[in-house]
Amino acid sequence: MTASFDELDFEYATSVAEKALRSMAEHRVPPTPNNFHVWFNYTIGAPPALKRAIDILIGNKRKFDAHTNREIHDSYVGTKASDEAVAYEVSQQLHSVMASAKQFLTTAIADNRTQMAAINDVAERTEAGADPKLLIESLMGELAKATTRATKLEVSFVEKSRELAAIRDSLIKSEERAKTDTLTGLPNRRALEEFFRKAQLAALEQGDPVSALMIDIDHFKRFNDEFGHGVGDQVLRLMAKVLRERVRDVDLPARYGGEELIVVLPNAGLATAATVAERIRRAVAECHLTRRSTGEALPGITISIGVAQFQGGESMADLIERCDRALYQAKKTGRNRVVIETELEAAPEQRAAG
Ligand code: GH3
Ligand code: MG
Ligand code: MG
Repeated sequence: MTASFDELDFEYATSVAEKALRSMAEHRVPPTPNNFHVWFNYTIGAPPALKRAIDILIGNKRKFDAHTNREIHDSYVGTKASDEAVAYEVSQQLHSVMASAKQFLTTAIADNRTQMAAINDVAERTEAGADPKLLIESLMGELAKATTRATKLEVSFVEKSRELAAIRDSLIKSEERAKTDTLTGLPNRRALEEFFRKAQLAALEQGDPVSALMIDIDHFKRFNDEFGHGVGDQVLRLMAKVLRERVRDVDLPARYGGEELIVVLPNAGLATAATVAERIRRAVAECHLTRRSTGEALPGITISIGVAQFQGGESMADLIERCDRALYQAKKTGRNRVVIETELEAAPEQRAAG
């Protein structure tokens, strides 16, 4: 994650800020607080995904219009900020609901006391031999007042519990947003890490295997350069769709970074994982792409996949590193293929594309 800016020393922060402003001017990005936040991070190079995204935009000579600027901000630096804003808003709302609830209870208790006093008064007058008709009138009056108060209280309580439910729902939604990649709708790296921790624990406890696939689009830079970043984005969305359709409900397909996707497969050894990988590879190779705006046919896209199995005690980074090595081998030996980590030492050149 991004280091806290408060820890930067004066000279360094100033030089970063100046450089950020110069880059913003060069790319005609208005120096608003949100944009500055983005470009300050970009200048530092954190998070790497933000740096990569902006480099791609610059590389593709994309204009930094208001929409693009907002997207970058929301995707890369806005999540935490908006999480904090939601948390603040929720705490304010809860505070107000609690204050009303306390107010209601205080009123209810005071009302009950008044009512008890009134009824006691009627009882005393009965003992003193007052006119029974009058006594019944006053008793009925007190009961009617009590009923009205109780009804009012109930209405307020129902209203407040509705407010509480809305607060709970907005918290759930903001948690989901923070774990979803905005471009593809796939779980993002944060969700992946959370999922992996659970799968890892289950694997260690029950001895079940867990495998992972690392998927990378072949020659995607060339594709972007030729057809534009927007069409490239469309391809990424299509990849997401293929992944969702080709994995089991228990698996987690996620966007790891730019054009790199990861699938975690709980309860799957290398053989199963390789079968799934092969199915995905073939499905992508068989997709017919058309440019949405013109209907023009586009050249096919292929992917390469590296497969590795989790080994007890290792971290997610270790596992991904091994997937990455297998993936590198797949690229080196022709692309559009699946390589399993066990093939790395044993005659890597002999595996043909399926
Ligand atoms: P290789 O077959 O070796 O993987 O070649 P490549 O060109 O795909 O590999 P490289 O990693 O050099 O380039 C990745 C490219 O992915 C760079 C960029 O054009 C593209 N890319 C990364 N993220 C995005 C994105 O969010 N949208 C689009 N449209 N393109 C992206
Ligand atoms: Mg890549
Ligand atoms: Mg690639």
